[in-house]
Amino acid sequence: MDNSKNNLRNIPSVDKLIGELRKNEELTTLPHSLFLKCVQETTEAARQNIIAGLDEEISTQVLLMKIKSRLVKLVKPSLKRVINATGVVLHTNLGRAPLSKRSIERVVEIAGGYSNLEYLIDSGERGSRYSHIAAKIAALTGAEDAIVVNNNAAAVMLALSALSYGQEVIVSRGQLVEIGGSFRIPDVLKQSGAKLVEVGTTNKTHLRDYANAISENTAAILKVHTSNYRIIGFTSEPDNKELVELAAKSNLPVIEDLGSGTINPITAGQWDEPSVAEVIKDGVDIVTFSGDKLLGAGQAGIIAGKKEYISIMKKHPLMRAIRVDKLSLAALEGTLIDYISGNPKTDVPVQSMLCTSREELEGKATRLSSMLSGLSEFWWQSNIVETDSQAGGGAMPEMGFTSYGVSLKAAEVSTATLERHLRNWTIPIITRVQSDRVIIDVRCLTEQDMTVIKEACLALAKGRGI
Ligand SMILES: *Cc1c(COP(=O)(O)O)cnc(C)c1O
Repeated sequence: MDNSKNNLRNIPSVDKLIGELRKNEELTTLPHSLFLKCVQETTEAARQNIIAGLDEEISTQVLLMKIKSRLVKLVKPSLKRVINATGVVLHTNLGRAPLSKRSIERVVEIAGGYSNLEYLIDSGERGSRYSHIAAKIAALTGAEDAIVVNNNAAAVMLALSALSYGQEVIVSRGQLVEIGGSFRIPDVLKQSGAKLVEVGTTNKTHLRDYANAISENTAAILKVHTSNYRIIGFTSEPDNKELVELAAKSNLPVIEDLGSGTINPITAGQWDEPSVAEVIKDGVDIVTFSGDKLLGAGQAGIIAGKKEYISIMKKHPLMRAIRVDKLSLAALEGTLIDYISGNPKTDVPVQSMLCTSREELEGKATRLSSMLSGLSEFWWQSNIVETDSQAGGGAMPEMGFTSYGVSLKAAEVSTATLERHLRNWTIPIITRVQSDRVIIDVRCLTEQDMTVIKEACLALAKGRGI
């Protein structure tokens, strides 16, 4: 007890600690109040630990280090760039779509100043933020009109709230899906105030199932693109044209949550992801899709379709709560221009990563392997391997895109240590571990990324005195 009292007394004064901390160059501009708060909290925690007998004593040096690292964290960004060596193109945890060059330029230009976000330059009157993208989306998809909200989950919520609140929405049992944790179609319907009417079975839903469910309380038919799984085998669903024809007889809209929403048709193996234009052409009244999935722009939810329904949504109170911000709008507009006038397969990173040929990928893996080969003979086992990369983001789930990678095993450290070393590198390198080897999938890597990977591997080898 006496001992711990002594140790408590040995904790330096707040003023003394602040004086020492102020000597750090990166912290000189921080306000006194922040030093004070951090010093008080850290010394208090140290005091509690001593009282609880968890720590014998705490040296001034250790205390200063703890406080410094907390303060340094505050002045350094926590959100940082990482290198995606997982092969998953639309990796939600790694921020989904990287923006195109044009998209980045648009964001930079709009972010730093004022813009005509809601202003008509010709007349000097108030404008609409949706006017900037409506014609472009119409040109690419054939939709009459379009609006953009925060993300696709919000888009679905708005469409249902605006068009079916207090009424019934018919959905096939095969489409009552969960998309990423808390986005479950039955819950979304409940939240938007609509009553779910389930029809058909998990594997088969017929047109007559929909027809039998239509009543005077029906507000819409909802289709959900089962983007993150697929029922195969003995299955059937009416096609869009049949469904649209049926709904039109009762004057009902067909809403389709397309999720990934590709502008360019993408075909990979057996997989055929429907494009927004195809769905609109089939007569579907409202289509919702994500800005940062296969489209390859920033986070956004796009609602495209018939003017009469879009104008109801524009006036809905939820619209204001989930409206898109100017940065996402700028990013989206840049990417839409890439599709309209440019060459999306080379200009939009997501498109180019998904369309890279096997030969190119193999070549890239060979280059990366030879970059590492200076080390490989005596320290690494590095092989070029065929991998299964994925579109990710819930798009084309069973579609493994064949890719190539480098499989690494270090002679002197465990695979877990190697993986951790790469992950904790200055620019974190996110890899996969498979069969006790680190797999670096090259699909999402730039040439610059490969140089960083080489530096990280070199540093580990050097650190081991090799
Ligand atoms: C991804 C997805 C969503 C959610 O979209 P976010 O842009 O992530 O909000 C909704 N529906 C479907 C079918 C999806 O694939």
